[in-house]
Amino acid sequence: MDSYNIYKILLIALFSVALLVFISLYFITAPYGRHFNRSLKVSIKARAGWFFMEIPAFLVFLFCFLLGRNELNIITFVFLLFWLFHYFHRSFVYPFIMKGGYKKFPIVLVLFAVVFNSANSYVNGYYLFFLSEYSLSWLRDPRFIVGVIMFMIGAAINIQSDNILRNLRKPGETSYKIPRRGMFKYVSNPNYFGEIIEWSGWAIATWSLSGLAFALFTIANLMPRASANHRWYFDQFPDYPKERKALIPFIY
Ligand code: NDP
Repeated sequence: MDSYNIYKILLIALFSVALLVFISLYFITAPYGRHFNRSLKVSIKARAGWFFMEIPAFLVFLFCFLLGRNELNIITFVFLLFWLFHYFHRSFVYPFIMKGGYKKFPIVLVLFAVVFNSANSYVNGYYLFFLSEYSLSWLRDPRFIVGVIMFMIGAAINIQSDNILRNLRKPGETSYKIPRRGMFKYVSNPNYFGEIIEWSGWAIATWSLSGLAFALFTIANLMPRASANHRWYFDQFPDYPKERKALIPFIY
């Protein structure tokens, strides 16, 4: 099978997985972090889990760029920088600064994420560096401008919100507290909100099926978890702010 057919099959698989994940996560909450299930015996440390889950996304995309047949222009260079920035942070920074990196993380989720991230990065990287045909006029296209702005705002919200969560715990602490700063005033999961804005921006800026598949997967994955986290906060904290929404300020 040639690389183009692999791309087509994986693209269809990503859309299918997004739908499956969306349906199943409303019945089962992914068992990591506050929802970790102690009956899952095969686990690794969360720090190692995050590193191994995310690094394929960095490497596979980089290989697509290095092997790609398209000449790099300013547009594909921006996309390359955005992707590598996100996944450099997620694999080489986030796991090493997280509090509670020694907590257990189920190996089955690591394996799923390695497969998903490899396929997703291949599909997005293959599209950009083998198939896409952006001319320089794309720089002035409203889809590129809006998508790039959304990506940057989403990344900023995501990183800021993860920082707020991290600073809630003193070194060695494992307990949960009510976050009150930044966009936590409006929603229980601003880090997920930022992540969704980020990849929706990617889908719009690249105007590609591969970007759309990833944005839909991110929504499918994070929306049900945001609801589960929101319910969890209300169960744990009787004084949890009633006006706070789960994911989208003032709406949901
Ligand atoms: P969470 O918000 O559940 O947790 C993030 C970190 O903050 C964890 O270390 C967690 O500790 C800690 N934390 C969370 N809530 C509290 C609290 N109330 N008090 C103290 N500490 C707290 O995020 P995830 O772990 O699910 O995700 C991490 C990052 O990965 C996010 O930026 C998310 O957007 C991204 N992500 C992206 C996905 C995608 O599909 N694109 C999928 C999943 C995640 P503990 O581990 O002990 O719970």
